[in-house]
Amino acid sequence: MTTDLPTLCPCGQINHNTAALYNDCCAPYHRADSLPQTPEQLMRSRYSAFVTKQHSYLIQTHHADHLNGLTTALLAENDETQWLSLQIISSKRQENTGEVCFQAWYRDTDDIDAIHECSQFVLENDKWFYTHGEMKEAVYPKRNEACVCNSGKKYKQCCLK
Ligand SMILES: [Zn+2]
Ligand SMILES: [Zn+2]
Repeated sequence: MTTDLPTLCPCGQINHNTAALYNDCCAPYHRADSLPQTPEQLMRSRYSAFVTKQHSYLIQTHHADHLNGLTTALLAENDETQWLSLQIISSKRQENTGEVCFQAWYRDTDDIDAIHECSQFVLENDKWFYTHGEMKEAVYPKRNEACVCNSGKKYKQCCLK
């Protein structure tokens, strides 16, 4: 747990045109006060857990059969990523499975890049788990679209190099 928890939720959830507060959005999942009800909620809460470095939450919500040796220690070794924003591209759910495609933007040395992935989720005993994902090529915003770093500027006037 970090002590400096953000006020706005890192996942970027908007409710009725207002950015959701962390305490009203992903925090209850991180504290195990409630369970994500959809694959997208789990995906968002996992992104927020990456940002806030809550590694045990990431392990708990990653299906045990798919961890492939991943541990909180390994996550802690690689937690210096400077995350910028989460962009949900699509999310769908069947009864006990779901798929969420997203881009998670981060700042590289002097550039921005994204993890573009379609993640698979499974519902077991009323809990959603991340199982695995398929990585794709990052799709950058168009020049006149909003920058992914949440500056409020157009991409061409901001992080476009
Ligand atoms: Zn959130
Ligand atoms: Zn930017």
